Amino acid sequence: MTFLVYVAVSIGIGLVCRPIMRSKGRSAGTGFWLGFFLGVVGLVVAVLLRPTREFEAVKLRKRRATMGDVPSHAAVSERERAATPSEIPDAAAGPALSFSNVSMVFPDGTHALRETTFSVSPGEFVTVVGPSGCGKSTLLRIASGLNPATGGSVSVDRSSLGYVFQDATLLPWRSVLRNVEMMAELEGVPRDERLERTLDAIDLVGLNGAEFKYPKQLSGGMKMRASLARSLVLNPKVFLFDEPFGAVDEITRERLNDEVIKLFQLEGFAGLFITHSISEAVFLSTRVLVMSARPGHIVADFPIPFPYPRDPELRFDPEFAELCGQISHELRGVHA
Ligand code: ADP
Repeated sequence: MTFLVYVAVSIGIGLVCRPIMRSKGRSAGTGFWLGFFLGVVGLVVAVLLRPTREFEAVKLRKRRATMGDVPSHAAVSERERAATPSEIPDAAAGPALSFSNVSMVFPDGTHALRETTFSVSPGEFVTVVGPSGCGKSTLLRIASGLNPATGGSVSVDRSSLGYVFQDATLLPWRSVLRNVEMMAELEGVPRDERLERTLDAIDLVGLNGAEFKYPKQLSGGMKMRASLARSLVLNPKVFLFDEPFGAVDEITRERLNDEVIKLFQLEGFAGLFITHSISEAVFLSTRVLVMSARPGHIVADFPIPFPYPRDPELRFDPEFAELCGQISHELRGVHA
């Protein structure tokens, strides 16, 4: 489309040049082609000198800082300070996501899920643990609409869905900034609003200062932060996490867990998280669901009583250890 506009403008310049050249005694054709050529050269130069997205981001950050706007990172800190567990939406408002007797049989006959029923309300953070291959990722793919279930019913507002995968899946030729704004770009969010939201999301996940780096320059944890920010830009009401921190080291994982809790408190989404780590499940969640071996279904539901925000030291609390032990015991039963 843009290309067609450039060609149209060049032809316009060519047409304007025709009478001018004719008045100077040259042929109209020469005038047209000279004008067309000048138009093309001008437009190529304009494209090359067009401000990059990174330049626009720097300008926006400066404007926020100097025009009296609250700088976005300060705004984020302000929101962080203000966030209390009471801001988390009322779980009684009705489920944001619900599965009712959902089953899934793949075309090759693999029976992945059997009559799976559970729901996640706004302000709930539900984590699913279960043996490998029991159908946890299948649950998320069904919730997101990537795979339709073969039985039962699913209710979720897919217009407001965030999805973080096991791999960060960043595009290597795009900077962090341009990767983070990508989902909003695909959703057709207007350019200026997109940049505002992108910078806010980058600040929220603690990537301020790394927005112009490329994926190959990032650590595993930073890549996952960028992946989180990419979904956050859409302000999701339902956030699906498919074992996002399985590939990072323990300390990075704990830091990322703190970030997820912070985001959960600030944004108040309904979270559905998959992990193999029982301690990660208990630390993050308001409820932990245990799945059976394939065909998977929910066999236990553990409410997690600890208030938010959760202190990293909670991991050493005897009650925390007790809950982890109960879930581990349930999982061993499932494996047996
Ligand atoms: P989990 O996330 O619990 O490890 P998955 O949900 O990825 O398990 O897979 C559940 C089962 O379904 C596995 O046995 C897997 O091999 C199978 N499966 C997943 N996707 C497909 C597919 N597209 N076609 C056939 N079988 C599949």
